Amino acid sequence: MAISRPIAFRIFGPENEFDMAFPSGFEHITREQEQLAPFTWFRIGGAAQFWVEPTSIEELAAVVRAAAAEGLMIRVLGGGSNLLVRDEGVSGVVLHLTAAAFAKIEVNKKRIIAGGGAKLGHVVSTAVREGLAGLEQLVGIPGTLGGALRSNAGTHGGDIGQWTTSATVMTRSGEILTRSKDELRFGYRASSLDELVILEATLDLEMASSAMLTKQMQQTWILKKAQLPSADQATSCIFKNPGGVSAASLIEEAGMHSARVGNAEVSDRNAAYIVAQPGCTSREVIELIELIRKTVADRTGVDLETAIEIW
Ligand SMILES: Cc1cc2nc3c(=O)[nH]c(=O)nc-3n(C[C@H](O)[C@H](O)[C@H](O)COP(=O)(O)OP(=O)(O)OC[C@H]3O[C@@H](n4cnc5c(N)ncnc54)[C@H](O)[C@@H]3O)c2cc1C
Repeated sequence: MAISRPIAFRIFGPENEFDMAFPSGFEHITREQEQLAPFTWFRIGGAAQFWVEPTSIEELAAVVRAAAAEGLMIRVLGGGSNLLVRDEGVSGVVLHLTAAAFAKIEVNKKRIIAGGGAKLGHVVSTAVREGLAGLEQLVGIPGTLGGALRSNAGTHGGDIGQWTTSATVMTRSGEILTRSKDELRFGYRASSLDELVILEATLDLEMASSAMLTKQMQQTWILKKAQLPSADQATSCIFKNPGGVSAASLIEEAGMHSARVGNAEVSDRNAAYIVAQPGCTSREVIELIELIRKTVADRTGVDLETAIEIW
């Protein structure tokens, strides 16, 4: 086997400016200083120091162990629909699980077993096509199954967690574990699945007519689309709905529905979303988030919590 040359890299931050070597052997799946903007819905933000796309679970485990041994921070990027990457970018490793090994979807009677890297939309459409009810409410939620499980993605009609009966995860030390139903906890935009990687999940659904589910899915999609910023906008949903009230209505009540900072502005379709206009920076989005939170707290007494993760 050819001996590969270690990749040299620079640790970010003025106090950490020295070169280190990434463990060799992963050059074919690693890119340095990969811009993350194209992989997120906001389409802004800096680069990942190491962008790694493993092709198998074994390769993923080897990368995780090697990066952990070097003390590198490791993150997983799914569909990038619930993320804002800072302008400075992120140090360490960002894993992207798009290989077939992470994206399979299998159906067995009322059960779907799908990879954490599978697109949520594909899991939903597979269920509907196979006449399995439960997931049709989730149509239009972007991202991957792994990302959906991490935040227990859902709508008023239900969430992914209620159908999830087990999950296979990889820990930060590269160990693979199975979390059974009684170990799983799902709440509003929260789950107990906080290990490094969600590799796979089992969803137990209910038999129904595929034609009826297709109709329901189409109706849900039409309603959802009308409440979202337009598809060509760089955007993300920023705030959680606090205790039964919609974040959008609180933002409107506080008079912040047309607020903007630089090129970041509140969406005119749904005030819980921020739109990044051309030239927008992550700093502007973060400043707008803080401005909205402060104004809403001052004027309504409610502390808005962010749904989006900031890297
Ligand atoms: C237009 C739009 C509409 C939306 N509508 C809804 C909605 O109706 N309901 C709702 O709940 N959300 C909604 N969201 C938010 C978002 O789509 C969900 O949170 C989605 O489930 C995130 O999945 P992702 O793969 O894009 O995750 P990412 O944004 O890539 O990552 C989010 C978090 O999940 C982690 N993660 C991703 N994949 C994995 C994995 N395999 N293993 C471990 N961790 C992982 C990441 O590390 C990060 O911590 C919407 C967002 C947009 C932009």
